[in-house]
Amino acid sequence: MAQVQEPAVEQHEFRAEVRQLLDILARSLYTEREIFLRELISNASDALNRLQFEMLTTQEVLDPEAELAIRIQADKEQRTVTVSDTGIGMTREELLQNLGTIAHSGARTFLRQLQEGQISPERIIGQFGVGFYSVFMVAEEVTVTTRSYRPDAQAWSWTSRGDGTYTVAPTQKAERGTTVTVKLKEEAAEFADEWRLEQIVRRHSNYISFPIYVGERVVNRQVALWRQMPSEVQEEDYIQFYRELTLDTEKPLLWLHIVTDAPVNIRSILYVPSRREWGLLPGLRSEYGLRLYSRQVLIQEHTSDLLPAHFRFVEGVVDSEDVPLNVSREAVQQDPMLRHIRRALTARLVKELKALAEQDPDRYATFWREFGPFLKEGVATDPSSHDDLKDLLRFHSSHAEGDGLVSLAAYVARMKPDQKAIYYVVGDDLTSVRHSPHLDPFRSQQVEVLYLVEPVDTFAVLALREYEGYPFRNVEDADIEALRVEVPHDEEADAPFQALVERVRAILGDRVADVRASQHLITSPCRLVAPESGPERELARVRRLLDQEFEVPKRILELNPRHTLVRHLATMQATTPDDPLLPMIVEQLFENALLVEGLLPNPAAMTPRIQALMEAAVNARVQTPTTHQEDTP
Ligand code: ADP
Ligand code: MG
Repeated sequence: MAQVQEPAVEQHEFRAEVRQLLDILARSLYTEREIFLRELISNASDALNRLQFEMLTTQEVLDPEAELAIRIQADKEQRTVTVSDTGIGMTREELLQNLGTIAHSGARTFLRQLQEGQISPERIIGQFGVGFYSVFMVAEEVTVTTRSYRPDAQAWSWTSRGDGTYTVAPTQKAERGTTVTVKLKEEAAEFADEWRLEQIVRRHSNYISFPIYVGERVVNRQVALWRQMPSEVQEEDYIQFYRELTLDTEKPLLWLHIVTDAPVNIRSILYVPSRREWGLLPGLRSEYGLRLYSRQVLIQEHTSDLLPAHFRFVEGVVDSEDVPLNVSREAVQQDPMLRHIRRALTARLVKELKALAEQDPDRYATFWREFGPFLKEGVATDPSSHDDLKDLLRFHSSHAEGDGLVSLAAYVARMKPDQKAIYYVVGDDLTSVRHSPHLDPFRSQQVEVLYLVEPVDTFAVLALREYEGYPFRNVEDADIEALRVEVPHDEEADAPFQALVERVRAILGDRVADVRASQHLITSPCRLVAPESGPERELARVRRLLDQEFEVPKRILELNPRHTLVRHLATMQATTPDDPLLPMIVEQLFENALLVEGLLPNPAAMTPRIQALMEAAVNARVQTPTTHQEDTP
């Protein structure tokens, strides 16, 4: 667009999404309106960070001597609050782009969530930090005066009353940076008070690393907490810093402060939050990663590869003098220094988690419930993580009480003297695996079995293969010799049982691979086993959960010849083979077995049959005439 003359004042319309956001904010009854200040300060601090970065890399800036600071002023008479910074400033194009559209990804997610009608705006404004526009919760009118750091930059002024439009006009501003002047609504007059503003800064922005002046005094601590010695930092300091960093309202579950100079210089504070999705709705955070600083200059906000992906729930900052300031933000992965840092951080984190598991198993269990899935995913997808993670894994087990958890080390420590493998059973949930017929022989010999109830559990165990030389084995393996029942069943000599097997084969047809006697079952009448072992078998259940076109895999049905129900069925087959109850019971046994395996696509379909079976059972007890009353004349 060629332009000869710029009109003095241009009027622009906000983009539709901004109008929507403004509308919500203006109507919001959110009680913590004070967070508008946190957002303005955070933008000022970002602008100072970026200026600092430019000074170190390009040098050519306006006012190179100006103090890097944020100044807040209040005017009771005028009912105004002013927030100024000597940061990077904005050109006209940047103004239009940044304050006319939604730059802030959190604000966009916020809008989407509201549209989906899941939550009321009041509940989440504070946690999202909806950015610059939150100022319209308290403002009647906002004026942004800004001048870019580029030496010959023109200053611009942006004004809006938070209705549908804003204006932009050239203006005079001697210094580099941005000044936001907020004309407060009458009902927000309380904020035109320096004492009040000071409190808000202390509460929400204490650890901003640039001085924040309210009036003439610096009111924030502005220390880089991570550059202090751990012994000098109080517990509350760590907690408050965490809250400012993440906007999480809860305390972190765990933090570690790393101060080391060899082999690389590292000053870092890492936090494990107490919940996976703090405050927000599932899956809201699109970006993760640590803040990377070099000598207190912010290099990158979300540096995702300073820790392995399975630790992406960790929050925190890393500062290192060994990171070159001009490291290209894309090249972070390739930088050998950063690889050193990653190794050091990972090792410390793993060590700390192991210590927690040892010293405070309850708290570790809390950690595991929240973040176990990440670690299991790590084991499943990244073989190089196995050494770090294998001792952090926890499983439900036949030897743990309730939904308690065991480690692999604890399992191995209480293995039977001649036990050669770590056994596991796969199922949809704890209730169904506890009823798995495969557990019969294990239970009778008190051999511990791990319960794998999440799809990712199966992937993790398949990837890990063994622990301390003991392979993982599925309890379903038909050939677990040691666990055969003491008195094996002699099928050859048992003609009625043979006849029953034939009959069951006929009833189930090609829905099963075969029907045969079980050498392992004790209290269960039957079970299904895969014709051969291998990942295919383990993944069948996962497939049922994911795949619409799921076909029930063909399994071998093993009948327990020692079980009363099976014996009675054999007698029935010998004496009254035409009884309709017989095929019904066979069908039901088969579907029960599919169900506990997590392989039955539609369990509800069995209800009519169960009802028919109940009627048959009741009839046999009560011995009523089979005809109904109304049938008798
Ligand atoms: P976010 O800070 O998450 O990007 P905001 O809505 O808070 O979103 O701000 C929008 C954009 O406006 C910022 O990304 C920045 O580019 C620009 N901006 C806001 N305040 C300032 C400021 N004080 N100095 C320079 N740029 C600013
Ligand atoms: Mg912001």
